[in-house]
Amino acid sequence: MRIDIISVLPKLIESPFNASILKRAIDKKLIEVNFHDLKDYASSKRRQVDDYQFGGGSGMVMMIEPIKKCIDSLKKERKYEEVIYMTPDGEMLNQKISNKLSLKGNIIILCGHYKGVDQRVRDSLITMEISIGDYVLSGGELPAAVLCDSIIRLIPGVLGNETSALTDSFQDDLLAPPVYTRPSSFENLDVPEILLSGDKLKIELWREEKALERTKNLRPDIFD
Ligand code: SAH
Repeated sequence: MRIDIISVLPKLIESPFNASILKRAIDKKLIEVNFHDLKDYASSKRRQVDDYQFGGGSGMVMMIEPIKKCIDSLKKERKYEEVIYMTPDGEMLNQKISNKLSLKGNIIILCGHYKGVDQRVRDSLITMEISIGDYVLSGGELPAAVLCDSIIRLIPGVLGNETSALTDSFQDDLLAPPVYTRPSSFENLDVPEILLSGDKLKIELWREEKALERTKNLRPDIFD
């Protein structure tokens, strides 16, 4: 899989890919991530990528020309299955969307800034619009990093043990059961006996029960 991220501030998004699981996935060539500075596609010497909005009003709008030029140059090189725009009024990101996207070949992610992008970009170039929640951030870089992390950790081979992503919350519409590690007893706080029993079947059933209980209590909306 290959992800191309278009941004006016690519520096803002690079660091999460230089550490831990995402870095390992890139090093192992399980995923290729490329960053593109939109200003490289500006036609003016000032490398302008935004302008005042028609009709007046505060806030700059990202222009269509540099975005189209950048997307076209990428599409000339290879096929893309989705061109995603990160936006607070997009479809709310959830595990199902991440699962689906993790199966794709190549995707482009466009990060907005200022007031967002000219509507014609959304109408003619974008195939999917994703929000990471009902709040507004200053740019699409952090949302794009969140989206990429949620996708990349699902690619087979990225997590040490492939099944570990499958037992995380929201797979199967359930929250994950509680987890414990050493010591088994700490200041009168004990690990549930069953986890120390070595009985794999009983442990599995206990985890299932706890996952159901947690989901019912904490997220009745998905439990239903
Ligand atoms: N004027 C827009 C917000 C622009 S915020 C509005 O009111 O809807 C600037 C950029 O930050 C957006 O173009 C988008 O790329 C990004 N962004 C902000 N909040 C986001 C969110 N919750 N999810 C995804 N992207 C977001």
